[in-house]
Amino acid sequence: MKRLDVIGVGPAGPEWVTPETRELIEQATDLVGYGPYLDRLASERHQCHPSDNRVELERAAGALDLAAEGRSVAVVSGGDPGIFAMAAALCEVLDHQARPEWADVEFEVHPGVSALQAAAARVGAPLGHDFCAISLSDNLKPWSVIANRLQLAARADFAMAFYNPRSSSRPWQLGEALSLLRAEQPGETPVVFAAAVGRPDEWVRMTTLAEADPTEVDMRTVVLVGNSRGRYVRHGDRWFVYSPRDYV
Ligand code: SAH
Repeated sequence: MKRLDVIGVGPAGPEWVTPETRELIEQATDLVGYGPYLDRLASERHQCHPSDNRVELERAAGALDLAAEGRSVAVVSGGDPGIFAMAAALCEVLDHQARPEWADVEFEVHPGVSALQAAAARVGAPLGHDFCAISLSDNLKPWSVIANRLQLAARADFAMAFYNPRSSSRPWQLGEALSLLRAEQPGETPVVFAAAVGRPDEWVRMTTLAEADPTEVDMRTVVLVGNSRGRYVRHGDRWFVYSPRDYV
């Protein structure tokens, strides 16, 4: 069967994998993706094709070649495969580098739980009203594009989720993003740092735009920002944060 399924395994361990995705992994003969994900999922039946996160287009073309040879291939991303992940790379390769032998490969993308969902659920409903997701990585787009989006999103009063917020090679981008937001939004706007959600080293910090310290954040973190009506609410001994569903 010439099949290529693009799947996402959620933000952490097996309890985040949807039943549909679990079944697709069982049916696949070949798993393609970032090595550590494959180690987590593969059984001895599977042929694994680990590769680095930076060679996405090559990995996509290689996966299509495998499927064209008659293998059942699952291309694996973390979280949801359509959110800053492999589904777009596969569509891009089909669009720009299509090869005749790929024509009869059955191609399907399947949803997974994304980091923003897992992180938002931990603290209540910070994305409870209109929101947008922005990757702060300027590896694939110039910082001017990101800065413009941040400003316009703040002016449009979207709640926001920042992926790829900060790494050792990109140490300043989150600080700059927060400065841009401070110029547009009240200091008490809720900000949440949620790191490694669902994993043993998970931590979550609820703070405000005025007080958020970008140096606490690394690449395992997703950053959530409430809209102008975002609020904290106390229940029992816990605090939650939400963006109300109306502007009334
Ligand atoms: N496709 C993935 C996103 C890949 S981009 C998804 O849908 O979630 C990688 C970024 O996702 C990381 O830099 C981080 O911002 C976020 N991320 C992934 N797993 C996470 C987790 N368990 N906790 C918090 N953020 C996570």
